[in-house]
Amino acid sequence: MDLTGKTALVTGASRGIGRAAALALAGAGAAVVINYSTNETAAEEVKTEIEKSGGSALVIRADVADYTQCENLVKGAIDHFKRIDILVNNAGITRDNLLARMKHEEWQAVIETNLNGVYNCCRAALRPLLRQKSGGRIINVASVAGIHGNAGQANYAAAKGGVIAFTKTLAKEIGSRNITVNAVAPGFIETEMTGVLSDEIREQVLSRISLGRLGKPEDVAEVILFLAASANYITGQVISVDGSLSM
Ligand code: NAD
Repeated sequence: MDLTGKTALVTGASRGIGRAAALALAGAGAAVVINYSTNETAAEEVKTEIEKSGGSALVIRADVADYTQCENLVKGAIDHFKRIDILVNNAGITRDNLLARMKHEEWQAVIETNLNGVYNCCRAALRPLLRQKSGGRIINVASVAGIHGNAGQANYAAAKGGVIAFTKTLAKEIGSRNITVNAVAPGFIETEMTGVLSDEIREQVLSRISLGRLGKPEDVAEVILFLAASANYITGQVISVDGSLSM
């Protein structure tokens, strides 16, 4: 898979799935914009790792929940690399709680980051992508919770379900411009996001995964790379990367 000459922007790329996606895209030759919101040191480490392997990277801080910051993120990427070809909307948070106990702030924060964040980045990147007239790839990181629901995650599942509907709609709107829009739906991936869950929950989840192991960030990153670098005739799709968890 060859992404030489292409620029990819990955949100929330300082760790976890975003970091693995940034490294995979850079490994295929793309120049990568590493977006982060709080941990600059971790983002700089991803940049160093890419540069050590001969790649190009740029670190830009932006809170994806803030539209103006997303506009500045896209502008910063284009100012530096002159173009944007691939947008990976990966940034996300959890604020799990049963709905009866859910605080308004927990609902709001997850919708603002996980759903509005995808809108903000797509909206900001769309005009530059269309103006380039060279096609493009948008990959949204959803979740199996957005397809099947998950008790304790009404906010998260609603946001991710929204991302899936948004993905299909945008695919219909811009397919004629050769821009594909797809989503990946990870199951249980071992990152800091799931690191807070108890051993009991991990065992329960594991018992439902026929492949016999929890997912790794690289398992998701390789599907993101496939959608970014190959997959010419795939758009509006949601690919579950869950080892059978949701089956
Ligand atoms: P993670 O917590 O390790 O990484 C999330 C990244 O998003 C972090 O770098 C964080 O700083 C960044 N981020 C959060 N809010 C942001 C904001 N407002 N602006 C910019 N960046 C922000 O988690 P992860 O597991 O790597 O999750 C990556 C994506 O995968 C998320 O969208 C998550 O919902 C999704 N996902 C994860 C799993 C899993 O099991 N880990 C399962 C399904 C979906």
